[in-house]
Amino acid sequence: EEKVVIDYMNKIYEKIKERDPHEKEFLQATKILFDSLIPVFVKNRTYIENNVLERLIEPERVISFRVPWVDDHGNVQVNRGYRVQFNSAIGPYKGGIRFHPSVNLSVMKFLALTQIFKNSLTGQAIGGGKGGADFDPKGKSDNEIMHFCQSFMTELYKHIGPDTDVPAGDIGVSRREVGYMFGQYKRLQGAFHAGVLTGKGLNYGGSLGRTEATGYGTIYFVDEMLKDQRMNFRNMTIITSGSGNVAIYAMEKAIKLGAKVVACSDSNGYVYDKNGLSLQTIKRIKFSEGARISEYIKSHPEAEYFDDCSKIWSVPCDIALPCATQNEIDEESANMLVKNGVKVVAEGANMPCTIEAIDIFLDNGVLFGPAQAVNAGGVACSSLEMAQNSARLSWTFEQVDEELQKIMKNIYRNCTRAANKYEHPGNLVIGANIAGFTKVADTMIEQGVI
Ligand code: GLU
Repeated sequence: EEKVVIDYMNKIYEKIKERDPHEKEFLQATKILFDSLIPVFVKNRTYIENNVLERLIEPERVISFRVPWVDDHGNVQVNRGYRVQFNSAIGPYKGGIRFHPSVNLSVMKFLALTQIFKNSLTGQAIGGGKGGADFDPKGKSDNEIMHFCQSFMTELYKHIGPDTDVPAGDIGVSRREVGYMFGQYKRLQGAFHAGVLTGKGLNYGGSLGRTEATGYGTIYFVDEMLKDQRMNFRNMTIITSGSGNVAIYAMEKAIKLGAKVVACSDSNGYVYDKNGLSLQTIKRIKFSEGARISEYIKSHPEAEYFDDCSKIWSVPCDIALPCATQNEIDEESANMLVKNGVKVVAEGANMPCTIEAIDIFLDNGVLFGPAQAVNAGGVACSSLEMAQNSARLSWTFEQVDEELQKIMKNIYRNCTRAANKYEHPGNLVIGANIAGFTKVADTMIEQGVI
C-alpha cells in the first residue's frame, strides 16, 4: 500500500521536476509536503482516486507582469512582478507580497504553496496565494518606494479584490507599502474596498494587533510545545534571526514570558550578549532609525557584534527562532545547534530550515515547529482584519490578541492530533501538513474537478 502511494507521489514529483527543473525552492517545499502526506494517502484511497495531489500542486493561476518606474535620478527602471493564485478551494486567495531581489517564480510558488496549508490550519476561510517583485527596497527613497508600489498595483489591481484575492505584507512590504498600494487600488477602482489588502494602517481599516501577530503567535505556539513537555519560557535562552516584525515581536513576547534573548541578527551580521539583549535598543535601531543591528554595540559596549549573520546558529541556546528568510539554517547550522543542546526550533520565517536541517532536528529529538503552524498567526490576524472590514467595525487589541491565542492553541492541537492519528506522534511537520492538507483536499473533491 505504501509503495503504491510513494510511486504515485514520485511520478508527480518527477513530472514537475522535469517541467521546471530550476525551481529549487518550489521543489524543496513540494518534497517536504509529499513526504509528510504519505501516511494520509496510505489510509485514504480517495486522494489517489481523485488525483488530488497533481491538481493541487499546479497553481490555479500564475500572473507575471512588468513593473516600470522612474527613480529619483530620472532613470527608467523595470522590475518583474508576480502573483501566484495557488488554491481557492476554501476561500479567496490570501498571502503576502514580498519585495526582495531574490524573488523569482520558484520563490513565489513555494511561498504560495505553503500558504495554502498555513491558511487552512488557521481555521479561517482563506485560500493560498503569494506575490511580489524582484525589487530591492534597500537604499530607495520614500518617493521611489511610492512610485514602485503604485506601478506594481496598476497591474495587480485587475486580479485582486476583497472576495477574490487579498494580498498583505511580507519581506520588504509593511504598513507604508500597503498604504501606497491601497491608495492606488482605491484610485483605479473608484471605490473603497477596505478588505482588498490587509496589514493596513489603523485609520482606514487596519486591525490592532496585526503588526505583532506573527511574532506573538510564534511564541504562543512555542508555549504550547513547551507546555506539552512540562516546560515554559522562564529562564530559557533564545536566539532569533532577523530583525523585522516577526523577530522583534517574538522577542517581545518571549521576554515578557520570562525568557532571555541573547542574540539577534539582520542580513549583515548579529549581536550577542550572554546576559540578554535590550529590546528597547533593538526597536529604536530598527523602527525609529531604520539602521543596521551593528549600531547596537555603540550604546551597549558589553555586547559583541559579528559580521556574518549565518554564524548566529553557533550561539548556544535552548530555543532557536529563525525569523529571517528561507534556507537560513542548513545542515551545518543544524548540527551546531544540536551539539550546543538546543531544545526547540520553531520557524518564524517561511521554510528557514533546509530538508537536511529538519531531519537533523527530528532525528535528535529536538522539538521542531514548522512554519505553516508556527507563523500562521500573521495571516490568521489578517483574516480577522477582513472580518472587521466586512462588519465595518474594529476590535480592541485585547479582543484580537485573545482570538489569536485561541487560534494558535487550536493549530497546535490540530497538528498534534493529526500527527498522533497517523502514527507519527510529536512530528509536527507531518501533523501540520496533514491537518492543513486534508481540509483543502476534501473540499476540492467535494467541489468536483474544477
Ligand atoms: N506574509 C505573511 C505570511 O507569510 C502574512 C500573509 C497575510 O497576512 O496575508 O503568512
